[in-house]
Amino acid sequence: MKTGQINVQTENIFPIIKRFLYSDHEIFLRELVSNAVDASQKVKVLAKNGEFKGELGDLRVDVVIDKDAKTLTIRDRGIGMTDEEIDKYINQIAFSGAEEFVEKYKGKEGAEQIIGHFGLGFYSAFMVAQKVQIQTLSHKKGVKAVQWESDGTPTFTLSEIDKKERGTDIVLHIADDSLEFLEKNRISGILDKYCKFLPIPVIFGTKTEYIDDPSGEKDENGKVKRVSTEVENQVNNPNPAWNKAPIDLTEEDYNDFYRELYPSTFESPLFNIHLNVDYPFNLTGILYFPKIKENVEVQRNKINLYSNQVFITDSVEQIVPEFLTLLHGVIDSPDIPLNVSRSYLQSDSNVKKISSHITKKVADKLGDMFKKDRTDFESKWGDLQLFVQYGMLSDDKFAEKAKGYALVQNEEGKYFTVEEYKEKTAALQTDKDGKTVLLYTTSFEEQFSYVKKAKERGYDVIELAGPLAPHWISKLEAEFENISFARVDADTLDKLIKKDEELPSKLEKGQEESLKEVMEGFIAKDKFSVQFESMSETEGPILITQPEFIRRMMEQQKMGGGGMFGAFPEMYNLVVNGNHPKVTELATESKEVQAQKLKQLADLAMLSQGMLKGEALNSFIERNIELV
Ligand code: ADP
Repeated sequence: MKTGQINVQTENIFPIIKRFLYSDHEIFLRELVSNAVDASQKVKVLAKNGEFKGELGDLRVDVVIDKDAKTLTIRDRGIGMTDEEIDKYINQIAFSGAEEFVEKYKGKEGAEQIIGHFGLGFYSAFMVAQKVQIQTLSHKKGVKAVQWESDGTPTFTLSEIDKKERGTDIVLHIADDSLEFLEKNRISGILDKYCKFLPIPVIFGTKTEYIDDPSGEKDENGKVKRVSTEVENQVNNPNPAWNKAPIDLTEEDYNDFYRELYPSTFESPLFNIHLNVDYPFNLTGILYFPKIKENVEVQRNKINLYSNQVFITDSVEQIVPEFLTLLHGVIDSPDIPLNVSRSYLQSDSNVKKISSHITKKVADKLGDMFKKDRTDFESKWGDLQLFVQYGMLSDDKFAEKAKGYALVQNEEGKYFTVEEYKEKTAALQTDKDGKTVLLYTTSFEEQFSYVKKAKERGYDVIELAGPLAPHWISKLEAEFENISFARVDADTLDKLIKKDEELPSKLEKGQEESLKEVMEGFIAKDKFSVQFESMSETEGPILITQPEFIRRMMEQQKMGGGGMFGAFPEMYNLVVNGNHPKVTELATESKEVQAQKLKQLADLAMLSQGMLKGEALNSFIERNIELV
């Protein structure tokens, strides 16, 4: 037996490790199981190269709890270590100035990811163990098995032991403040989180399965009896779908894998993108498009980041653009630097490349789908539009591609690209300045009468609803030449799409003035501004409109962003049609009758905008009952 000092500058690094990783002790298991997997893969490689000629055997990693002995063992049949190797890899901690390093990073976000990449991985065992033993037999011929043991001080002992099987047992004598790591459920949870797709089978105890009775015994219905049996509990799928070639996978395989990732999600994804890059960086993965409903906030943080099949994190904000965090799935890249802080990650050029590559892939995939099967694409548009809008608003390169397949839907339910729609409406809806005005409604139901009037003129109306629509519309106006969007109630139709000819008014200036005075007598002037227009007779007598610009700004503010104009007061125009017979005939009436009838017409206008409420609605109803 030999005693020695672990070669670290600091007197005692273990208390620091313990303190440093206080919030995330559980990652010790990820580190140790990954080491075991690495050791197993190494022996495989050596066997392939012919450097190891012995029997490979069943390469697997076992995680074993012994509650009585208060130990947790991680066992592998990997390459093992000789005493010299222990000295080299374990005793001489892979970096100097450990304390300095730890002091620098402790408490920082992402610090727990650093540890594995500075050779401290194994020592994370001391976060939960008061004593650690390494019992190992190297694959090399004729070597002796050795045991290294340390109780968390830099002093260790090394001794020969009797161990027949190649490989390494890491035995953790769990500390009293960490007894949770002797609980089956706790360990199960950690393995499921970090080790679910490690490339070597990881076995944790047994589980109960139900199978046909091997003796063939039948129940009263003549069916073979089902009996329970204990089978090994393999916690991982060593060959996850993202590592396979897309041609070997069916739609069903992709959906199955989705369920493997999110066992508690019932909905199926819309479609997926299989990523496979090897230049200028390595990256594989599968991204799924979920059905994105109204709320863009709830679905985030579902992309899992792996490095060589080891789970790293599910917060990938710095690695993929924000709008892509709406997607689900897996990204696996050994090239994403994990040993750095998050702010550094943001400016890392590799990460930037990864991010723009993924964006491009996603944009192209959508484009392919649109080209290949437009009907199918259209059927998915309802679930896709929020994502596409979000993407177009947040990434110009994405917008450049997506504007070719971003769709709008008109009242007849037909879909158009913006370019197609412009073409379709240009003949009737181009104004005297050459701008094609695309009329939209945020709700066919709520703006029904306005839509109807527009349609009567032969105009076409699309529905643009959803939280991002106001921003998106502005984006489209910037992306396409000579179009502008206007909600059907933004102004009178004559004004929305201005043509050369102007209708003369049937009312004289003086008559307009006096009717306006009457109206202002009963209307809330802080909310409505009264205007007279000479519209065609087919328009209603009074219309309530709200200028497009103001309404859009207000909505954009509500969604956040675009707040440079301060808060807008809610203002509407009450537009009186000076050519409507019901209005012209008022010119010769008494002031009293004028007030009465104008009030009635104004109330009807409010009613069709859904603005007549409470007291006003009640008195309107009572007045009308009188009339009956
Ligand atoms: P890292 O894995 O980042 O190199 P660790 O502290 O986790 O740092 O491990 C240090 C070294 O110890 C490893 O590189 C490996 O050579 C050796 N090692 C650790 N665990 C095992 C194991 N289970 N089998 C064989 N060698 C191991």
